[in-house]
Amino acid sequence: MPETPHPSGQTAQIGPPATPGPDRIATCECGALTLRVTVQPVHIHGCTCTKCQRSSGSVMSLSAWFPESGVTIDGPYTSWFFTKTPDPALVSCFCPTCGGGRFFRTGDYLRGTIGIPVGSFADPDFPPPDHIHWWPDRPRWLSAPHGPDLLEGN
Ligand SMILES: [Zn+2]
Ligand SMILES: [Zn+2]
Repeated sequence: MPETPHPSGQTAQIGPPATPGPDRIATCECGALTLRVTVQPVHIHGCTCTKCQRSSGSVMSLSAWFPESGVTIDGPYTSWFFTKTPDPALVSCFCPTCGGGRFFRTGDYLRGTIGIPVGSFADPDFPPPDHIHWWPDRPRWLSAPHGPDLLEGN
């Protein structure tokens, strides 16, 4: 994995233990950026908050979070984060050519994991989210799915 320090200056974070999982590949739309994952996600969630609607360009974000040690990043990417805080909770990384293949490096949020939007795996058998955050902010036409808990906030 390329050495990409977190903006706080950290290069190695203490993350959750990794459990071996199936070999999964997430790619951007043009294929220049790939993320190979060989561990089970520690967390899968959706979020219908208005911030996630804007960042995903869709009705909700849906992301799986993996221990950093189980993710191999191959290809170029650029990154972006809110600069208001010296230790941002999330750094958003993505392919500089097509803008896809987004992944998240973490600060205080799920420290030591990498978050990958589930759609980048293009896998109909990918496990469902445990819960969906900020359900009251969803588009009004979106009805409740079976399975995940629907939370009013974080
Ligand atoms: Zn691309
Ligand atoms: Zn959100």
